[in-house]
Order: sequence, then C-alpha cells, then structure tokens
Amino acid sequence: MSQLNDTYHLLFSTEKIAERVRHLGAEITREFDGKPLTVLVVLKGSFIFAADLIREIDLPLNVEFIGLRSYGDRVETSGVVQITMDVKHPLEGQHVLIVEDIVDTGLTLDYLIKNLSTRKPASVSVASLLYKPARAKVKVPVAYLGFEVPDKFVIGYGLDFAGKYRNIKEIGYLEPPPV
Ligand code: 5GP
Repeated sequence: MSQLNDTYHLLFSTEKIAERVRHLGAEITREFDGKPLTVLVVLKGSFIFAADLIREIDLPLNVEFIGLRSYGDRVETSGVVQITMDVKHPLEGQHVLIVEDIVDTGLTLDYLIKNLSTRKPASVSVASLLYKPARAKVKVPVAYLGFEVPDKFVIGYGLDFAGKYRNIKEIGYLEPPPV
C-alpha cells in the first residue's frame, strides 16, 4: 500500500475483520431477540466498523452519531471528555448499542456510559472493535468485542494517526511510530 512504508505491521487482515464483524452481528441479533436498537456511533474512528456491523445485524435499528473529544496529548487521554456533537433524538426508553473503535484507558467510554445513563435509556451496551488491555485504567463493560490488541498505536479500518490512514482496509500499527 503506497501510504505505508516498512514501519507498518499488519495485525488483522480484511478477511479476518469481516469474519469477526459477521460473528458480532449474529451475536447481537441473537441476544436482542427482535428488540429494536439505537446504534450510537462514536465519531470519528468507528464509522467504518459501524457501517459494516449494522449490515450484519438483523434487527430493526436506527443510527445516531455522537462526537467526543478527549483532552490529552497525542497518545494519552486525560479523561476529560467533551461532547462535540450530540445525538439528534432523545434516547429515553431505547436499547442503545454504543459502537466504539478502540477502548484504550477506558476513560472516554466510562464518561459516555455515565452520561447516557442520565438520559434514561432502556439499556446501554457496548460493541468495540478493539481493546488494549495493557492500558486499561477503568473497567468498562464491552459486551461485544472484536479483538484485543497489543500496546501499540493502531491504525486502519477507520482508525487514524493525525487524521491519516483511516482508509487502510486492514488494521495494523507503525513501529517505530511516526514523530
Ligand atoms: P481511551 O479514553 O479509552 O483512552 O481512548 C479512547 C479513544 O482514544 C479512542 O476512541 C480512539 O479515538 C483513541 N485511541 C486510543 N488508542 C488508540 C490507538 O491505538 N489508535 C488510534 N488510532 N486511536 C486510539
């Protein structure tokens, strides 16, 4: 791939991702058992995962988007989170499925779950494509997990580095990381 050089290391191929997303979609379909879902897509990193995942869920659903910004340096969030774009409809009484790209420290998701609970949804559950156990600071309940990843800054399939690489079809990391 022309955007990538020899510092790139593949973690998950497109085939492996597609297979895992199919499995997650089937699991969600089974567990919600005909109940309508509100899929809450956390921008920007999860938009590609969400687009693939909802097409593997055989339930009536609607899609909402929320924009979050975590303050901190390039690689570490401080846990101070701001909602940069909120949902367009109330979530009261709905079964909300949060779709995240990656749980790293867990602070962003912890904030979001607490914030959503004040809006009186019927339930809140989480689907995250990736989870980095080495860096977890708070425990967050990820009911539907794609893959665990090593303590590397991962890119591709929607995840960026400084705004780039979201369009890489697979998931990998750059080592040494770009400066
Ligand atoms: P947390 O609050 O769990 O530490 O971090 C959440 C957010 O940080 C993720 O939603 C993602 O936007 C960003 N993030 C954390 N680790 C990585 C990573 O390895 N790669 C990319 N591209 N983003 C990450």
